[in-house]
Amino acid sequence: MDALKKKIINEGQVIMPNILKVDHFINHQIDVALLVEMGEYFKNFFKDKTITKILTVEAGGIAIASLAALAFDNIPVVFAKKDNSKILCDDCYLTQVHSFTKDKTYTIRVDKRFIQKEDCVLIIDDFLANGQACLGLIDLVRQASASIAGVGVVIEKGFQPGRGLIEKQQVEVCALATIEAFVDGKVILK
Ligand code: 5GP
Repeated sequence: MDALKKKIINEGQVIMPNILKVDHFINHQIDVALLVEMGEYFKNFFKDKTITKILTVEAGGIAIASLAALAFDNIPVVFAKKDNSKILCDDCYLTQVHSFTKDKTYTIRVDKRFIQKEDCVLIIDDFLANGQACLGLIDLVRQASASIAGVGVVIEKGFQPGRGLIEKQQVEVCALATIEAFVDGKVILK
């Protein structure tokens, strides 16, 4: 994923000590062709698994998951909702997630109709930091007794513990770019 790595270096902005802003191409304005390429990379990485669904969390993961779904022959994308509205669904799997960027804990939910025990689910998100978002999604899939094909993230911050925590759950991680460190406001990629 050289194109992604170039974009991170040229257009990513380090804000605060530990946060990378990528709103030129992922989180606000979207480079669709780059997302298509990412989807193909995920498809190739997980080619030995029969994946039936992609699960992500709103809002940052939705575009990435949707274009990946096309690479997987248009399998459905389900996104966990953060909304707390009672009319949203009355029969949901729920779990708590602590947000790294917002420093608050919130509930995410998926309607039970959308993950079935026969499903093999690929979890996708934009960033992997402390792993809490992905661990929450893993929890939702396990509540449904479905199987997990793996976790695919666009950008992993390798100096945070996310990968280790997910691998401890016996779940494989595919990261398209791994950041080793931020040094003087610059991104050092692995
Ligand atoms: P984790 O749950 O792994 O600690 O953090 C992942 C979630 O936090 C992602 O869904 C992403 O939205 C957000 N996040 C974590 N680190 C960053 C970052 O450096 N930049 C941006 N833009 N989002 C991040």
